[in-house]
Amino acid sequence: MENRYEELKTRCLGCQKCGLASTRHNVVFGVGVPNAEVVFIGEGPGENEDLQGEPFVGRGGALLDKYLAAVDLDRNKNIYITNMVKCRPPQNRDPRPEEVASCIGYLTEQMELIRPKIIVCLGRIAATALIEKGFKVTKQHGQWFEKNGVWMMGTFHPAALLRNPNNKPDAFEDMLSLQRKIREICDHTYDGTELG
Ligand code: SF4
Repeated sequence: MENRYEELKTRCLGCQKCGLASTRHNVVFGVGVPNAEVVFIGEGPGENEDLQGEPFVGRGGALLDKYLAAVDLDRNKNIYITNMVKCRPPQNRDPRPEEVASCIGYLTEQMELIRPKIIVCLGRIAATALIEKGFKVTKQHGQWFEKNGVWMMGTFHPAALLRNPNNKPDAFEDMLSLQRKIREICDHTYDGTELG
């Protein structure tokens, strides 16, 4: 599995399949543990992510890490984080449908290798693509959907929480719901961590 993961990553890092290849600094493949039972998926890398080659860094990433830590989750210990598209859309615009279509194969292969039990979509782009076409984050955040044996939830993108802090209590409730779901269905995510 590790070899297949590394092979996939190497392929992705050299990808030229869509126009975003010409403006990126780095391909942002994903970060986390290869046997993660919980995967977080955002829409695409922003400026800091593009420069550093890691998803969810900068202010949004720091906020996400804080929410994760509150429910004993850590990108270096027990989860995996990636995006719908692996290269930064210029000026942080939404990724275009053809860019998502070009890139989605990498995400599909990542999920086939990691085989998570839970997927959390961070923001509208991931939730509408992976959970439900008309998904409305403000109305449907925190709801659970079972698709092909994987439990899925959509919640606020950290960048949206920085723009609109009024949604932070709702986002925190979503994390508590995630914590309950992990305790219910996951085998090893909380191994070795103090349960809060
Ligand atoms: S966004 Fe995806 S498909 Fe487009 S160049 Fe980057 S890795 Fe390739």
